[in-house]
Amino acid sequence: MIELKNYTHLIWDWNGTLLNDAWLCVDVMNGMLQERGLPLKTIEEYRELFDFPVKDYYAKLGYDFDTEPFDQVGMEFILRYNQRQAETMLHPEVQEVLARIAAQGFSQNILSAREHNELISETKSVGVFDFFDRIRGLDDHYAHGKIDIGLHLVREMGVPGKKILFIGDTRHDAEVAAALGIDCLLVTNGHQSEDRLLQLGIQLINSLNDII
Ligand SMILES: [Mg+2]
Repeated sequence: MIELKNYTHLIWDWNGTLLNDAWLCVDVMNGMLQERGLPLKTIEEYRELFDFPVKDYYAKLGYDFDTEPFDQVGMEFILRYNQRQAETMLHPEVQEVLARIAAQGFSQNILSAREHNELISETKSVGVFDFFDRIRGLDDHYAHGKIDIGLHLVREMGVPGKKILFIGDTRHDAEVAAALGIDCLLVTNGHQSEDRLLQLGIQLINSLNDII
């Protein structure tokens, strides 16, 4: 049973965990699927299909990488998502949850697969930048994935791994936490369904309100 009082440092995932953007991913992807004559997805279907590496998820949607390389469709998705990013908002409870956790003296940090500069500007635009001691996204110039930057982040924190809790919304987040040697809590209102997350045997919460 995970209890916040056993930790001093939190590492948050961004997309799906704090930012409510699964609906935008579905909307942008459906636009691309429609243009290719592929079947559209509901958000429930999306939560059953979305996965890392995302290339496998694209294959499940019906993309044919022989006619259209994955790098090309993957980039098209990111560009279209970025154009509409300003439409996203935090999950409604997030501001209050972050404020209450900050008031209890925790160090809060973000580890995300989002591009670093985009991540910084998004946290500012939704008004939560100041809650975080460290915000780390991917920078292709030096990072090879979320695990690499995560290991660096944990070293920077300078506390034993058992004092750090990772909070995410996907099976990949659980893998990252395991690789970093830290505990993990997953929320079920992000990018993957509760049924899929249940298979991990990790503690789940339905909303971040349940964390306090
Ligand atoms: Mg996420």
